[in-house]
Amino acid sequence: MNNYMERTEDSVLHTYNRFPIVLESGEGVYLKDTDGKEYLDFAAGIAVYALGYHYPGFDEALKSQIDKIVHTSNLYYNVPLADAAKKLIKASGMDKVFFTNSGTEAIEGAIKAARKYAYLKDGCTDHEIIAMNHSFHGRSVGALSVTGNPHYQEAFKPLMGGVKFAQFNDLDSVKEQVTEKTCAIILETVQGEGGIYPAEKEFLEGVRKLCTEKDILLILDEIQCGMGRCGSMFTWQQYGVEPDIMTTAKALGCGVPVGAFVLNKKVAEHSLVPGDHGTTYGGNPFACAAVSKVFDLFESAGVVEHVQEVAPYLVQKLDELVEKNPCFLSRRGLGLMQGIVVGNGIKVGDVVKAAQKEGLMVISAGSDVLRLVPPLVIEKNHVDEMAEKLQAAVNALTTEK
Ligand SMILES: *Cc1c(COP(=O)(O)O)cnc(C)c1O
Repeated sequence: MNNYMERTEDSVLHTYNRFPIVLESGEGVYLKDTDGKEYLDFAAGIAVYALGYHYPGFDEALKSQIDKIVHTSNLYYNVPLADAAKKLIKASGMDKVFFTNSGTEAIEGAIKAARKYAYLKDGCTDHEIIAMNHSFHGRSVGALSVTGNPHYQEAFKPLMGGVKFAQFNDLDSVKEQVTEKTCAIILETVQGEGGIYPAEKEFLEGVRKLCTEKDILLILDEIQCGMGRCGSMFTWQQYGVEPDIMTTAKALGCGVPVGAFVLNKKVAEHSLVPGDHGTTYGGNPFACAAVSKVFDLFESAGVVEHVQEVAPYLVQKLDELVEKNPCFLSRRGLGLMQGIVVGNGIKVGDVVKAAQKEGLMVISAGSDVLRLVPPLVIEKNHVDEMAEKLQAAVNALTTEK
């Protein structure tokens, strides 16, 4: 194990402080490291592995696509692209999709589509975008520009211009930033990295109304909260608020790197045209075979219905843990995207490490939130096991003190 860690640090740029764990395999909702230690996985590769590891039929679909063709470029048509696009359009009720290789790239595309839409309306090139404080949209210069975290941005300035920030869940603060030049408002339906903050219904409805009145495009980033995680295929669907542009990634390929931005009819018909945007890999047959199979399995396994059933049980167990443990201050979240605020002299990072010792994988969000984003196929017995292990981790931490 040390050998792999050393070799990695020797040659991989040190941009992550990794945990001293070398993961080797997964089965169902469990991970195994190179020492053979098992972990109940409530992190899912950061909300990626919605179906857990080796879900029946998934690997077979990937292998069968490898045997046919992995990549073609976008100069030609391919079969999985047609299937995956159709299924994503059906699941979202939107109009057109562009597949990317990551969430960040989906954000880039969304920004470009919004700017092009505004450009076609008035011919101007000084449009503005309103983003939220404590948001996270990715690490490229464009996506970073709309990420409301000065700490991530500072060293990389100047970033993309024309971005203004407002307070999430504060409609007046958004209205204050609107000008004649505003072309889009971008926000996560549930803020993830910022600390698991679901949008309030009145806020999202208010932003939608504002956007509709002024023909500003609403971009909802569903990269982390979408794909069933919060109890509907896309989280905005349970708010009754439709975006003009949506981004998705993370669980979209259940481990295969893929993202997408999806446009409603209005934007699809008045924005990007041939020559405006492209990608070598995006939408390749391998990635799209994964997306296509993910949608099939979500439907046949009733994943969204399962989330609706198991999430209240997770919430109940987490609330019990908050009740029992003074270091757990509160819980918030939606569906299987949950956060516990950690405090009272205990650091969230220490809880994460103590949980790992107990064989439980959890992660943090923001500076003080314990994030639980398990595979969507977890059962109640896994929730019980998580609660026991998390309690054991807290006990170990507090007796240590
Ligand atoms: C993870 C994430 C991104 C960035 O996705 P990458 O695939 O890491 O580029 C963007 N937005 C949200 C809400 C995310 O959670």
